[in-house]
Amino acid sequence: MKLPEIKGFIDISLIDWDGKVSAVIFLPGCNFRCPFCYNSTIVLTPEKLTTIPLERIRQYLTEKRDWLDGVVITGGEPTIHPELSNLCQFIKELHLPVKLDTNGTNPKIVKDLTAQGLVDYVAMDIKAPLTVESYSRASGITIGKLLNEVKGTLKFLLDSFANYEFRTTLVPTIHDEEDLKQISHDLQGCRKYVLQNFKGDVETLDPTLEKIIPFSQMDMERFLQLTKKTLPKVMIR
Ligand code: SF4
Repeated sequence: MKLPEIKGFIDISLIDWDGKVSAVIFLPGCNFRCPFCYNSTIVLTPEKLTTIPLERIRQYLTEKRDWLDGVVITGGEPTIHPELSNLCQFIKELHLPVKLDTNGTNPKIVKDLTAQGLVDYVAMDIKAPLTVESYSRASGITIGKLLNEVKGTLKFLLDSFANYEFRTTLVPTIHDEEDLKQISHDLQGCRKYVLQNFKGDVETLDPTLEKIIPFSQMDMERFLQLTKKTLPKVMIR
């Protein structure tokens, strides 16, 4: 069974799956170039990172499975890997639940994995309001037809899969109050929406963003109240 190369591994995390103790697997590469991305090496030059031997991960997960609530697969963008289902299967065979982080550009893969019971929870990024202009700015690519794929994943999760969250990293110079209003409208009916503030002073894919000051706590609270007018369950992470 061929598995994707694993370029990062966190043994224990309390922040990558709400309420759960998880291990985190990082897969290389991404079809987006979000200027605020914190994982530029894994996105742009993953070959510089050591590949983690699968045997090491198998051994760790086998030893610790009674202590872990699940495994998060993140990236990069995991769904660009054709062998993603094999990785999910590998984790499931160790009797551990799987959370998938995705930018939503591969609805078919998300549908197939959830239909086969290979993924238990999906966290999908909503980069911006669902317009070509806004999404291109936030994703760092000319979004074109990929926006339809993002909309497809969004619709599938809203209509057919209960265990999901949508989340937006809010970045000054990229997002404003109007965007939040529009996103809230785009996500009507969603069960859980998470607002994440941009972290200042970290390496970002677009270096000009490194000096950007994140939104204040007051700004975030304002965004929270704004989105709560439309969506029932919103939180700041
Ligand atoms: S933040 Fe954007 S570029 Fe970075 S991994 Fe996520 S989708 Fe890809």
